[in-house]
Amino acid sequence: MSTKTPLREDAFKIDDNSKIELIEKHFGEIMNILGLDMNDDSLKDTPRRVAKMFINETFKGLNPANKPNITLFDNKYNYKQMVIEKDVSFYSNCEHHFVPFYGKAHIGYISSGKVVGLSKLNRIVDYYSKRPQVQERLTIQIANEIMEALQTEDVAVVMEAKHLCVSSRGIKDDTSLTTTSALFGKFLDADTRSEFIKLIGK
Ligand SMILES: [Zn+2]
Repeated sequence: MSTKTPLREDAFKIDDNSKIELIEKHFGEIMNILGLDMNDDSLKDTPRRVAKMFINETFKGLNPANKPNITLFDNKYNYKQMVIEKDVSFYSNCEHHFVPFYGKAHIGYISSGKVVGLSKLNRIVDYYSKRPQVQERLTIQIANEIMEALQTEDVAVVMEAKHLCVSSRGIKDDTSLTTTSALFGKFLDADTRSEFIKLIGK
C-alpha cells in the first residue's frame, strides 16, 4: 500500500464552491433514490449541509491548501530526551464505508535540535484524519509529516481507534479497538521503544 492518499492529478482543478454545489446535487439524488421526500422541511437542506461539511470539515485534509504551517523553535535548553504527546483525539472516516473511525493518537519524538509547538502535533493529526482513510496509512502519514517537520527520523506514532464500520454494522463488534503503530529511527531500539510504550501507558 502506498503511503499517499490516492488522489487524481486534477483533484483541485475545480474550486471548493463548485465542489459543494456538485456534492449537494448528487447527495440529494441519493436521498431521493432512497425514497425520501426532499420537500420535507427537515430534509430539504440536508444535501447542502452535507456538501459543506464534506468540503469544509470532514474531508478538508484532502486539500494541501489546508495543511498546517509548522513553526519550529530552537531547542535552547538542549533537551535531548523523548517528548511525548499522548491521547490526541482524532476523528476520521473509513474510506471503504465512509463511516467514522475515531480514537486517540500517541506521538513521541526525540529532538534533533528543533522543537515544535505541541498543538502543531494535534494539527498534523487532524489534517491527515480529515480524509477518507485507512488507519494504517493515517498512522504512517502522520509519522512522515512529523519526521519532515522536525527534521528527525526519531518519531513514533501509535493510534487506537474504534471503527463504526465494525461496531455498528457487519460483524457488530462494539468492544474491539484497532491499534496501529509507526516507529522510526531510535524508536526501533528496544530500550527507546519500551520507554515510549511505558510513557504512553500501554
Ligand atoms: Zn470500513
